[in-house]
Amino acid sequence: MLPEEIRKLADAVRDVPDFPKPGILFKDITPILADGALFEISIRALAEVAHGIHIDKVVGIDARGFIFGAAVAHLLGAGFVPIRKTGKLPWATEVEAYSLEYGEAEIEIHKDAVAPGERILVVDDLLATGGTAGAALKLIDRLGAVTVGVAFLIELAFLKGRDRLGDAKVESILSY
Ligand code: AMP
Repeated sequence: MLPEEIRKLADAVRDVPDFPKPGILFKDITPILADGALFEISIRALAEVAHGIHIDKVVGIDARGFIFGAAVAHLLGAGFVPIRKTGKLPWATEVEAYSLEYGEAEIEIHKDAVAPGERILVVDDLLATGGTAGAALKLIDRLGAVTVGVAFLIELAFLKGRDRLGDAKVESILSY
């Protein structure tokens, strides 16, 4: 990526203080989605994480991971698999619970969505504490597939979320 392309993406991220609760600085990526040139740059940047690596499927995490992940999958010619918050997937699922700042959450994946040995790129908009992505990696691992990369548009590096992602190859386009 060209440095000015990265700068344009960073300039478009809108900081919203105290959303969804006091003390959280929410990184709003919708201005990137709404701009055709910026959306194209963001997808190309995320897909670059898989440069020279064969990817069978992109796994996107509920919900903004679907937007970026589906476009990245299309660009790579790979399949797309959603990991959803519990209760949304209709077929047999594998479930993983993880801790949030307050309380617990659960995500799930269709048991037959990835096959043993398949090579997976995980995509989400933002890495914060790493709880969500860590749970996603466990689900993929439990189904026997291999996570060859994890790509985020934004990483809140001060939260050290990548420490919860084991030895996966983790890359972020914008880091704070
Ligand atoms: P975590 O499990 O702590 O890494 O949180 C990651 C998930 O929460 C991602 O799917 C993000 O979309 C969302 N998230 C967490 N913190 C923020 C933030 N400051 N701004 C925007 N989204 C966030």
